[in-house]
Amino acid sequence: MQRLNQSIEPRINCTDCGNCCRSLLINVTAPEADSLAGHLNLSRASFDALYLEKGFSGNMLINAIPCHFLEENQCSIYAHRFSGCREFPAMHIPGFQQRMFTTMMHYARCPIIFNIVEQLKDTMGFARDLAILPEE
Ligand code: SF4
Ligand code: SF4
Repeated sequence: MQRLNQSIEPRINCTDCGNCCRSLLINVTAPEADSLAGHLNLSRASFDALYLEKGFSGNMLINAIPCHFLEENQCSIYAHRFSGCREFPAMHIPGFQQRMFTTMMHYARCPIIFNIVEQLKDTMGFARDLAILPEE
C-alpha cells in the first residue's frame, strides 16, 4: 500500500477534489483549537461556539459538514489545519490492515484511495474478467 501510495498520491491534485473536506467529521485537539483561535483573532470561547461541537466520546469536532474553512476547494486555514486533515487518507502510515474498514468507507470518495485499491487489485492478480457479471 505504501509503495502504491508513493506513486499515486503525488499525481492527485487535492484542490481538484476537496471531497474529504466536504464529507468528514474532523477531530480537533485543544492545542489545535488554541492555535487556530489565535490565528483568527478569536477567544477560545468564541472559536468553540462558532466552530466546534462535542462528539459522543467527548472529543471535539468541527460542527459543520462541509467544513467551515473550505473555500472553492481550498483550505482557507491550510497552515493551521488539523492533524486529521494532514493525515487523511493516511495511506502513508504503517498498519493499513488495522484501518482497512475505515479506508474502504472512503473508497468512492477519495481518488487517492480509489486508485491505490484499483492498482492493488492488479498487483495481487485480481481476475477482473471473472468478476464482471455476464449480461442478462
Ligand atoms: S480544516 Fe481545511 S483541510 Fe481540514 S477539513 Fe477543513 S477545509 Fe479541509
Ligand atoms: S478526498 Fe482524497 S483526493 Fe480528495 S481532497 Fe481529500 S485526500 Fe485529496
